[in-house]
Amino acid sequence: ACTSDSGDDSTLTVCTNVPFEPFEFMDGNEYVGFDMDLMNLLAERLDQTVEVVEIDFDSIGSGSALNAGTCDIAAAGLTITEERQAAMGMSQAYYRADQALVVPSASTVATLDDLSGMQVAVQSGTTGETYANDHAGQYGYEVVAFETMGDIASALSAGSVDASIADLATWTDMIKDAPDLKLVQPIETEEHYGFAVQKDDKELLDEVNAMLDQAFKDGTYAELYEKWIGE
Ligand code: GLN
Repeated sequence: ACTSDSGDDSTLTVCTNVPFEPFEFMDGNEYVGFDMDLMNLLAERLDQTVEVVEIDFDSIGSGSALNAGTCDIAAAGLTITEERQAAMGMSQAYYRADQALVVPSASTVATLDDLSGMQVAVQSGTTGETYANDHAGQYGYEVVAFETMGDIASALSAGSVDASIADLATWTDMIKDAPDLKLVQPIETEEHYGFAVQKDDKELLDEVNAMLDQAFKDGTYAELYEKWIGE
């Protein structure tokens, strides 16, 4: 059923970037999370086995990885945007997301208004980077791009940057393991995550959407949501 160049028919190759809790992260040397479980559902439906390809987020978000045949599908907490819909085949939405402002616990920064003259870390190629760039003039901060969320957490802990803007759910989970960081302001951007396939892979896109329809209907989605995200 798989029309892509990557892998063979028995393998569903999945591009992702970690850590991005609770959607994709490492448990030992296994990739786990909400996105990964949904990819397992898809693979089951297609009678395939998931093989994860870990690459930089930039190549995922721009569509270059998919369109070069690096993988069949991207599962990366990927926000549906017009640019991405033009560059790739984007599925229906499966998660409603926002951004958040995170700072070291000892920081006096409470809102975006306190960021004048500061360095704000973002992940390269993300909607958080776009948001930060779009508001840098208004709030008077400088944007510094990092390749992974892990790099951002380290830079914040080391004090080499003052703050970060990235996806709310991921920061909410990541600060649980980083008591030296705190989330001070959710930023409502009303984003929706989708899975992405190669631009012309209508067959796989239909399967992803059907998998989601089925999971929404039969309670599997609710079960996985509860397992990974809660509430
Ligand atoms: N949702 C954001 C985006 O699509 C960030 C995703 C990520 O860092 N994995 O740009």
